[in-house]
Amino acid sequence: MKTKIVFSEKCLGYGNWHIEGPLRVQKAQEILQTKGYEFVKPEPATEENLLKVHEAEYIWNLKKGLVEDTDTPAYDNIYEFAKLSAGAALLAAKINGFSLMRPPGHHTGKNGAALGVYTRGFCYLNNVAVAVKSLDKRTLILDVDGHHGNGTQEIFQGDSKVTYVSLHRVPHYPGTGLVSEGNCLNFPLPFDCGEQVYLETLDKALSMVDLGEVEAVAVSAGFDTHKGDLASLGLTERSYWEIGKRIGALNKRTFFVLEGGYKGEQNGHDADNLLRGFEGEP
Ligand SMILES: [Zn+2]
Repeated sequence: MKTKIVFSEKCLGYGNWHIEGPLRVQKAQEILQTKGYEFVKPEPATEENLLKVHEAEYIWNLKKGLVEDTDTPAYDNIYEFAKLSAGAALLAAKINGFSLMRPPGHHTGKNGAALGVYTRGFCYLNNVAVAVKSLDKRTLILDVDGHHGNGTQEIFQGDSKVTYVSLHRVPHYPGTGLVSEGNCLNFPLPFDCGEQVYLETLDKALSMVDLGEVEAVAVSAGFDTHKGDLASLGLTERSYWEIGKRIGALNKRTFFVLEGGYKGEQNGHDADNLLRGFEGEP
């Protein structure tokens, strides 16, 4: 059965001058539509959902648009866009779907910028964290975005219900995730390491997780590891099929939340490959 895609065109309504712009999702949506995926529309997350992850003061500031940094503009109504993206992650968790929405989330911590990093890297609310907290199951968060999810690590550091695994490029933004810490397993990789090194590292990472303790898998699905993208590790479309195959082999309820990936058409083909690998399709 094909994974359903959670999408609302409302997420295309901001930031068309920024690298984290609408085309990165719009083009991907068009491609997934031609591939026959079914689409479902999200509702915004409630404040109650958000407060399971973020501090009230941060939410208040976000509402007022007081959270601009050099990477992350305070767009008009960004709180509404961010709530809808978080709500899409909630729906993806509920239906084991793929949230194809923006803004992304994994750099945002409890109170904004996380682990001493100075910006929130295009992120406003930590979508995957909001979904994992509400799902309230023992969860493996697998972050395959090319940047370390410093926000996600900060939120779940020391949480006995969650294991966080991240493969990411180093040295690179945000500069965190150099070593594993407790329940957060970090696998720094060099620029353009390529598919073979990547997959060997992923296999090693997954072998370190006590899967008997895992009830659900949440994938921070970033595609900026694609060769030539913002955090390139030299991966190709086919690499995402291989990654998906490994996620499917875990045999757990699984959902996916879009993070980075800055070339829309590429994101569409990469997401299709990831999901076909996951579903055991060629
Ligand atoms: Zn990224």
